[in-house]
Amino acid sequence: MLVGSYDSSLVVFSFLVAVLASYTALDLTGRIATASGRAVHWWLVGGAGAMGTGIWSMHFIGMLAFSLPIPLGYDPLITGLSLLIAIALSAFALWTVCQKTLPWDRLVLGALVMGAGVACMHYSGMAAMRMTPGITYDPALFGASVLIAVIASGAALWIAFQLRRDGEHTRKLRMGAAVVMGAAIVGMHYTGMFAAQFPAGSFCGAALHGVSNVWLAFVIIVATIAVLSIALIVSILDLRFESRTSVLAVSLAQANQELTHLALHDNLTKLPNRVLLEDRLSQAIKTIDREGGTFALMFIDLDGFKAVNDAYGHRIGDLLLVDVAQRIRGSVRGQDTVARVGGDEFVLIAQIRSPSDAAGLAEQMLHEIEKPVQVGGHDVRVSASIGISVYPGDGANEHELLSNADAAMYYAKASGRNTFCYFETSMHQNVHNQLQLQQDLRKALVRREFVLHYQPKFRAPDGPVLGAEALLRWQHPSRGLVPPNDFIPLAEKTGLIVPIGEWVLNEACRQMKKWLDEGHADWTVAVNLSPAQFAHSGLVDTVGTTLMRHDLKPHHLTLEITESTAMRDVETSLATLGELSAMGVNISIDDFGTGYSSLLYLKRLPATELKIDRGFVSELAHDSEDAAIVSAIVGLGQTLNLKIVAEGVETQEQQEFLTALGCDSLQGFLLGKPVSAERFVSMAGAAESEKARTAGDVTQSS
Ligand code: C2E
Ligand code: CA
Ligand code: CA
Repeated sequence: MLVGSYDSSLVVFSFLVAVLASYTALDLTGRIATASGRAVHWWLVGGAGAMGTGIWSMHFIGMLAFSLPIPLGYDPLITGLSLLIAIALSAFALWTVCQKTLPWDRLVLGALVMGAGVACMHYSGMAAMRMTPGITYDPALFGASVLIAVIASGAALWIAFQLRRDGEHTRKLRMGAAVVMGAAIVGMHYTGMFAAQFPAGSFCGAALHGVSNVWLAFVIIVATIAVLSIALIVSILDLRFESRTSVLAVSLAQANQELTHLALHDNLTKLPNRVLLEDRLSQAIKTIDREGGTFALMFIDLDGFKAVNDAYGHRIGDLLLVDVAQRIRGSVRGQDTVARVGGDEFVLIAQIRSPSDAAGLAEQMLHEIEKPVQVGGHDVRVSASIGISVYPGDGANEHELLSNADAAMYYAKASGRNTFCYFETSMHQNVHNQLQLQQDLRKALVRREFVLHYQPKFRAPDGPVLGAEALLRWQHPSRGLVPPNDFIPLAEKTGLIVPIGEWVLNEACRQMKKWLDEGHADWTVAVNLSPAQFAHSGLVDTVGTTLMRHDLKPHHLTLEITESTAMRDVETSLATLGELSAMGVNISIDDFGTGYSSLLYLKRLPATELKIDRGFVSELAHDSEDAAIVSAIVGLGQTLNLKIVAEGVETQEQQEFLTALGCDSLQGFLLGKPVSAERFVSMAGAAESEKARTAGDVTQSS
């Protein structure tokens, strides 16, 4: 029997190659498992080549470490065959672990096939020595070597499958696993070697024509290390690239998400926009249809927002909107939807138990919105008008629900703002009415359907009469007398206000001239100007020619513009008012206290009079906030040398109090309602004689 010996450094080296081959194989499974498309193919082919070469060269280095007291060599053909076996085996192993699942039966089958393959490779490698007489194998050790091959293959497959995805610790785990796998491969090899018995007198057939040991060792070592290193480097680079791609993919997904968010949300308030609202609304309808229940749709429109915008600019307006949006959002539950659908319009979808619940919610919201706030260093305050539609009941689809809530909102606006209205079917009749009204309005001037009523202004507390405010009425053929609030907004919107306004001015001047001729030398007539009229470029000319036409002195005419109109475009307002005032016409600032005049502009405004808004007067009580405001306005007017008029005086108490506060003149139902021109003169006459009579009583009694 020939006794073999081992070169210990080559044994160690064979172990290192086994570990390196195992690590490369594990790393490559990571690539294959995460690659897609054709790349899987290439990784599999390349991986099998690298891994096969590694395992085979480990085996061969192990063979080279072994020497017998006779010269040894290897048959190139059989050696090549054992390399092919190693590569095929590796391909099979890689394919197995890169499947989505690795059930037990497949693992066992894989272990058997692979173990058999490893054994085949090993023993065909041995056969490459072409020993004569043939090598005999110790059956127990041979069996042990095959068993080790099968068990090691099974363990390798299982570990590789577990570690195939790249994770946080996979690198370390793979290194550990590679050492275990390398040890198993080496163990199988050397067990197989111990099983081999070389009878005495054997000689190696391949030693004559085969490849020499030293040369072979060199080629194998260099080639193996090269193949394994290249495979590893490519794998690591690819992982880098892949993780960079996945970072890119993540940021792309994020960008996409942001874009969708932008497309569905309002930029300013971050609330859902109309598109998202409609989607939520249709979902809400579907849910109710399926599961029952009720929801309310509220259309919320801010009152007085435009005035804030005009007075302080868009920046403050925007800040206010953001603030209001937060307050609305804060007063509803998380599952309710609040959307912004227009400049100062919001919509709320809220689940409720019964339709009447919506009222409480609306009230709460009005209360929230009404609170005064500080934005950009200014105290501002708005209110809201809310229209409510309820599902089921007030519409069959998103569109109907929205338009019905909108119609109800208009009702809330018309009924004095800062309030809410439930939708009613009759409101639609109103939309139709509005269209009809618009058509009628176009014909009204030609048909001479307009009339002016006059409301007297008195010197506080009760006279004499200082003049009249001309208030427009529309004598509609079928509707009767239509009040201005019902058609002036429409006339504004359609631009009809300009010719109508010219008619009013002409008629008021004509009437004033008549009164002058009748001896009322100290009266003036006041005419209201709407925003569109005031902004119209022909205004100054029209006023001039109208005065001339009736040969009327300008100081007999007062033009009333509201505070918010005057403040809308301050510089232009100053220029227009300057021209009118230079002409000698009186300027009165109407509805004063509701807008946001800055004191600075007020000082430059060539006005002659401030009219305290009706709202303050009606709320007047001795210790109220409104009393303080009225008193402040009176003080302001006196400092700026302006006359103060209080309008909407309805009670004697108000009359006395306003007089005491220092108002110059009073106007209101208590002293005289708006009446036709004929009745005006007799009413004024009656008021004068009544005053004379009471004055007489006073003198008599004193
Ligand atoms: P305004 O300029 O504030 O006019 C005063 C309104 O208050 C008038 O309503 C008048 O009837 C009402 N009023 C007067 N005294 C009292 C009172 O004691 N209590 C109450 N509750 N109300 C009182 P009217 O005539 O319905 O006019 C409403 C608004 O329509 C006017 O408000 C004005 O802005 C506008 N308007 C009226 N005539 C014209 C016009 O010829 N041209 C333009 N552009 N607007 C007009
Ligand atoms: Ca007025
Ligand atoms: Ca007014």
